[in-house]
Amino acid sequence: MKITAAVLHEPRGAFKVEDVELDAPRPHEVLVKIVATGICHTDLAVRDQHLPLGLPAVLGHEGSGIVEAVGSSVTRVKPGDHVVLTPASCGECDFCVSGHPSYCEKFSVLNMQGHREDGSCAHHQHGQDLQGLFLYQSSFGSYAIATERNTIKVPTDIPLEILGPLGCGLQTGAGSVLNVLRPQAGESIAVYGTGPVGLAGIMAAKVAGCSVIVAVDINDQRLELARELGATHTVNSRNQSSADYIREHIMPAGLHYTFSTVGRNEVVAEAFKAMRYMGRCVEVGVGTSANLEIPHSLFRMGKSITYAIEGDSVPEVFIPRLIQLYRKGRFPFDKLIKFYDLDQINQAVEDSEKGVTLKAILRMPH
Ligand SMILES: [Zn+2]
Ligand SMILES: [Zn+2]
Repeated sequence: MKITAAVLHEPRGAFKVEDVELDAPRPHEVLVKIVATGICHTDLAVRDQHLPLGLPAVLGHEGSGIVEAVGSSVTRVKPGDHVVLTPASCGECDFCVSGHPSYCEKFSVLNMQGHREDGSCAHHQHGQDLQGLFLYQSSFGSYAIATERNTIKVPTDIPLEILGPLGCGLQTGAGSVLNVLRPQAGESIAVYGTGPVGLAGIMAAKVAGCSVIVAVDINDQRLELARELGATHTVNSRNQSSADYIREHIMPAGLHYTFSTVGRNEVVAEAFKAMRYMGRCVEVGVGTSANLEIPHSLFRMGKSITYAIEGDSVPEVFIPRLIQLYRKGRFPFDKLIKFYDLDQINQAVEDSEKGVTLKAILRMPH
């Protein structure tokens, strides 16, 4: 079928909104009419080719929409269902069956190759294949092909156009706290970086009942928003060591947990310095430091770090849970959102990179 999609033709280039041909769904696939899609840092990492994917390509991986058609073996969703798309997983490997589909053995094969496992592409243009099926969706288009497993049914009483980022960025932030660190009520945490992922982590820390939630960033405006969303303290680390400040003014013995969304050595070192003995750090950033280096002196006394993917969540359980919290006013992620039309995608990207917009969501033309 003919769809409208934003196509990336060259590394670091602009997205171009063009006509594209999309396959019909295969037996295990689902055709989704995309209503809206978030822009996530990972889309831009591919644009800049920090993550390898062939070009030209259709990207986008925070799609929400309505099921249009399903393949012959699909049973979990049906036409008309409201859905959020999330990364695909196989459902059969050790990690999937033990409740950790983000670490699926086939994660890269299913999500990051630009085509199906058998090598076929779902997107075509002028008789040529386009790379797509990014995170098994490529939601920068008016329709997308996904699989049954990464199509998550959501309630119909919440505006569908705000829900897409639950499938990646917000799930990553909230899950890193609620599923990975699992703080107890009354414990303490610092969150480094107050983009959408970090802010989701701050909201989650508040949900968990953390008594000290420190937001660390170099942008005062974002720190203000962090406070509105649950941070009990904020530290602007532009001209000072956040760890020194935390030790001197907030928690002299150090924090139980740290959550870094930044992906830089100096930030992880600060996080380790700010933690008490046996403190645990989770990192999710795709940053500028090629190797993670932590000074040995900071790594002692039972402290640990893990890198988490997608908040180690089971999306069909976790996304509805986040929606439930949103309903109760306890996960007000709509405060991060700014809407753009698909043909404003390059403006949305620019605003996201400048930090003018926290979470850009593109509305599809229908
Ligand atoms: Zn698997
Ligand atoms: Zn993402």
